[in-house]
Amino acid sequence: MARGQTPTLFDLEPLPAAAAPPVRRTGCFARVALNRPVPREFTYAVSPGLLAHAVPGARVAVPFGNRRSVGVIVELEHETEIPAARLKDVLDVLDDEPVVEGELLGLTRWIALRYACSWGEALAAVLPAPLKREGQRRKVPRIRAKAGLGAAELEELRAKHPEQLRLLRTLLELGGSMLLRDLLRNLRLSESPARSLRKRGWVEIDYVEEKPDPLLSSSTAKKVRPESLSPAQASALERVSARLVAREHATFLLHGVTGSGKTEVYLRAIEQALAQGRGAIVLVPEIALTPQTVGWFRSRFGAVSVLHSRMSDGQRLEEWRTLQRGETRVVVGARSAIFAPVRDLGVIVVDEEHEPSFKQESVPRYHARDVAVERARRAGAVCLLGSATPALESWYAAQIGRYELLSLPLRVGGGAPCKIDVVDMKRDGEKTRGAPLFSRVLLHHLGEVLKRKEQAILFLNRRGFVPVLYCAGCQTTVVCGHCSTALTWHRRIQRLVCHTCCQERDLPRACPTCSRPGLRDVGVGSEKVEHDLARLLPAARIARMDSDTMRRREDYEETLGAFERHELDVLVGTQMIAKGLDFPRVTLVGILAADQALNLPDFRSEERTFQLLAQVAGRAGRAHLPGRVIVQTTEPLQAAIVHGARVDYASMARHLEKSRLEHSYPPFVRLCRVVFEDQELERCVATTQRFELSLKDRFDAAGLSVTEAHPAPLALVRGKHRQHLLLKFPLDGALLERVLPWLMEECQNETRTDVKIDVDPASLM
Ligand code: ADP
Ligand code: ZN
Repeated sequence: MARGQTPTLFDLEPLPAAAAPPVRRTGCFARVALNRPVPREFTYAVSPGLLAHAVPGARVAVPFGNRRSVGVIVELEHETEIPAARLKDVLDVLDDEPVVEGELLGLTRWIALRYACSWGEALAAVLPAPLKREGQRRKVPRIRAKAGLGAAELEELRAKHPEQLRLLRTLLELGGSMLLRDLLRNLRLSESPARSLRKRGWVEIDYVEEKPDPLLSSSTAKKVRPESLSPAQASALERVSARLVAREHATFLLHGVTGSGKTEVYLRAIEQALAQGRGAIVLVPEIALTPQTVGWFRSRFGAVSVLHSRMSDGQRLEEWRTLQRGETRVVVGARSAIFAPVRDLGVIVVDEEHEPSFKQESVPRYHARDVAVERARRAGAVCLLGSATPALESWYAAQIGRYELLSLPLRVGGGAPCKIDVVDMKRDGEKTRGAPLFSRVLLHHLGEVLKRKEQAILFLNRRGFVPVLYCAGCQTTVVCGHCSTALTWHRRIQRLVCHTCCQERDLPRACPTCSRPGLRDVGVGSEKVEHDLARLLPAARIARMDSDTMRRREDYEETLGAFERHELDVLVGTQMIAKGLDFPRVTLVGILAADQALNLPDFRSEERTFQLLAQVAGRAGRAHLPGRVIVQTTEPLQAAIVHGARVDYASMARHLEKSRLEHSYPPFVRLCRVVFEDQELERCVATTQRFELSLKDRFDAAGLSVTEAHPAPLALVRGKHRQHLLLKFPLDGALLERVLPWLMEECQNETRTDVKIDVDPASLM
């Protein structure tokens, strides 16, 4: 957490151990949680005029430092020892009814303790933005480029104004107007380049009423309710129903291959909960939250709320209120929908529960799957975690009986099993002459697919044209000056781009380190795949889907729509295309560099590689045409490739379990990562070492294991050096509960180096 500012109201509470015994006063006092990185709440007096509405869960305006802040009452007290002179008054109660009800209030407290943040920070994650401040919803700014601009203007910005260049170039490419907020978020820019461009008179910004979110409008997608369930579905549902009927909490891991009918089990469970007068939350990864997905739930349940991070503040608030009033009882959403104020919760579904995107990477760093289990437990609800490739943590929980395992081993209606070929790209003669990226067998089958008028998907998890430029002279790669990331050559825009901080620069003529001319290309990205393929198969209609081409949600829908209508033959893309796509005419899936992610310095790299392969493999042959998957790799004997190619989850799980046990990683320990960031390297290292020593001193004997301080894999990001510590805790959580408050306190005192605590980290980069 950013511990930059010291709390100004620290003197609100009495100092401990004063000589005179404290005087107790009676009255009404509110404990208020504020959205500050201070792990405590603050007490304010409630004047008689405000008593009627001052209840736990209501928002209040209070003085904090010199400012008026909005906080949430978490508790009312009738006595205090704080001297009257030090106690400030609640200025106003902002709600007639509490905005956060008891259940969510308790859950946010749990999040604060578990993920090491303040209660106020956890509450801030729950409340829609308009409720975090006072005031009304406004119109939103929209930006467009003035007519007639082009290459000349871009050239003018090129040398000195890279951020303005990126913004204007993107606007020109989009060719229309776009909400400023979305554009800046995509390009990871602040508002200042937009303002500068306006000063130049090159862009126009106007203010418009927000359009309703496209996901909120109706979609025609349907899941026809099948007459009968398969035997596996029926027995899974039976076990879920038993708990629903008894109104007992249970967490189920629903393990089923793609197309095995997991969604139908979710739908039936929700149907039963609704029949009991209860509600449901469905979490899906952001990328799978499409009109189609929402449509399935609407077609069954009528009014359904939607919540996700790309919605505007106003839209989120409206959905929130609708749920609170009980007008809708089902919500479908991404990560943060786990906090939706659904009344009388009966079921929580987490689809694709293994997805790392369920972990939030900013404070509070919660994992929505784990929050789902906790929320269900508190509500006496059923939690359904579904996946074809469960996270090892979930699998293990099912093995030891903490979760109940439900299996759907077969595709509904049989479905032709895929033929999976693993191609060893190191072997002679496998590569196509002049296009070493494509194996001959892949190219052959691509040709066949086109002849048969079917479709193919090619997957490469790296964007850009050439990911790395290497100098043979000094044996270095060209990196971004502000990050330790190799720069990627993007051919269309003719720029080198840092995929960590988004900064760009021109291609140097010679090595920036040793001035030797002739940099070598290493590796390929999705842009080059598209480019080479167009050359090899001139008749094919090809589109690329990655975050360079898919700037807007509509781009994504449009390209998928075109593919669905068979206006495209081949879709090339990054992980964006790996999930949730269901196209009956796709009979070939090529995975171009299956081992690419294997060597990342993260203990989950094998697991992720396996999941990706299994998932992509599930894309082919989903309907009546037989499918084929071609996996190109240089490490065909790696477990993730071998088991991934066979979609053999059980064998992979056994392999992972063994190595995690051996090296003490989850699920056999609890992990907490502490990241230190500082502009000054020496100070960064010193702070890290000081934390390391203190932690060892204090908690070594209690069973805490602390790795030696060392640079994070991304050792430099946006000009800040990064070091990290990995803490390993026994599973029972008791020690973790002792260490976290201590860590938070220390972070509080650390004003120079930025210290971030990440409990159960999803990534070690
Ligand atoms: P998953 O969520 O596991 O990928 P789905 O629930 O989407 O699988 O099911 C795959 C396909 O099978 C869908 O088209 C669905 O409508 C269909 N389906 C599911 N259950 C049945 C059933 N019991 N009878 C007939 N078709 C079914
Ligand atoms: Zn960078």
